[in-house]
Amino acid sequence: MQDSKKVADICPTCGKNRRRDAVICGVKYVFHVMCECEAKKEETEKKARESRDRMQKIEKLQSLLLLGEKYKAVTFERTQTGINPSFDAAFNRCEKYCELYEKTVKNGYGIYIFGDKSIGKTHLTACMANFLISKYVPVLFTNLFEISKAVESTFNRESSIFRRNYSKQLGTKNYIAKKRQ
Ligand SMILES: [Zn+2]
Repeated sequence: MQDSKKVADICPTCGKNRRRDAVICGVKYVFHVMCECEAKKEETEKKARESRDRMQKIEKLQSLLLLGEKYKAVTFERTQTGINPSFDAAFNRCEKYCELYEKTVKNGYGIYIFGDKSIGKTHLTACMANFLISKYVPVLFTNLFEISKAVESTFNRESSIFRRNYSKQLGTKNYIAKKRQ
């Protein structure tokens, strides 16, 4: 028993004895001391574990994001610029906002994008959302319709009446105010 244990204490790779015996205050202690290959293995496993955790975290953040399929893979890098100067200006601002996210997001600064329909506002916000998630910043990609639905769901029993009466007014302040009467 003692011998087989000793054999297991010898690293099969570098041959180092990883067992240390000591007597402290008359009590025998056995310590395990990592050899270099063992430490390296542990480090590799730790990195793999961290990488897996990061991926899981990003996947979880993505699932909470509620971003449409169309926008799941959009990034600043893959966005074509140089066509519309006003889009480029907005693009640069959004990208800068993200690059400085540690100051902007964490200090509660927002960014307001406005412009005509189909000019790329959603695209830019999706680029921002995807960038921020890659930095583990939780993002909720939503709109007034979704927010209103979430509010509605908190009213349970009356929600169908609520939906029938007010769903066409979604996005207006009345929607929430009327329900609270
Ligand atoms: Zn070893």
